[in-house]
Amino acid sequence: MVLVKNIYKSFGNLEVLKGISLHIKTGEIVSIIGESGAGKSTLLQIIGTLDKPTHPEKHHSLLEIDNLPVTQFRDKELSLFRNQNIGFIFQFHQLLPEFTALENVMFPGMIAGKGKNELQKKASELLKYLNLSHRLDHKPSELSGGEQQRVSVARALMNDPKVILADEPSGNLDSKNAEDLHQLFLQLRQEFNQTFIIVTHNNQLAEMSDKCLVIKDGVIAE
Ligand code: ATP
Ligand code: MG
Repeated sequence: MVLVKNIYKSFGNLEVLKGISLHIKTGEIVSIIGESGAGKSTLLQIIGTLDKPTHPEKHHSLLEIDNLPVTQFRDKELSLFRNQNIGFIFQFHQLLPEFTALENVMFPGMIAGKGKNELQKKASELLKYLNLSHRLDHKPSELSGGEQQRVSVARALMNDPKVILADEPSGNLDSKNAEDLHQLFLQLRQEFNQTFIIVTHNNQLAEMSDKCLVIKDGVIAE
């Protein structure tokens, strides 16, 4: 469950978010659309605890993930919380170029301090699930765009996060790969009851989600 209340965000004089509230249930796939510069990535960064809202006390802002009051966490608690509870998928994958597919997927687990054997086992299972068993030892530059994206999905799943945040996940995939990615999200939801918040320009992706939210003028318009 993700609960967001009265989130404001300004960069200098620029007020980007002006009171965003939303409630996303466990297992829901929610897409967020809106014009370029509307504040979609900014909102996702705040939900992902990578950025903080402006004047949260003044606005009585609230961010709760699985009933945990994230807005009250200190910085130290936040990075641990993020590592354990949130999976990120980005448009340009952001895989580590020097690491193999397997090592990239293991990475969030290494940060969490888990044992190497356990991590290897889990990472290869995830990659197998994503039809990449034959690519474990390939570096990102030796993988296709769609394969790189699937590696980044596996990496997002590594620590069994409560919620997966995806910013333009199909942005640089062709339509076949984008369609596969959508199917994959549906499958993951069915299998793991995974909650997704997806920023997208892709109509197909927006249509398959349970809810589609539009950000306009700093608020949720519909
Ligand atoms: P796009 O569809 O192009 O990705 P977006 O909806 O994701 O757009 P954001 O990246 O959230 O938009 O940016 C919202 C506004 O905030 C933009 O006008 C952007 O220039 C501004 N902005 C974002 N991050 C910063 C920052 N760190 N400092 C100053 N301004 C910023
Ligand atoms: Mg963006």
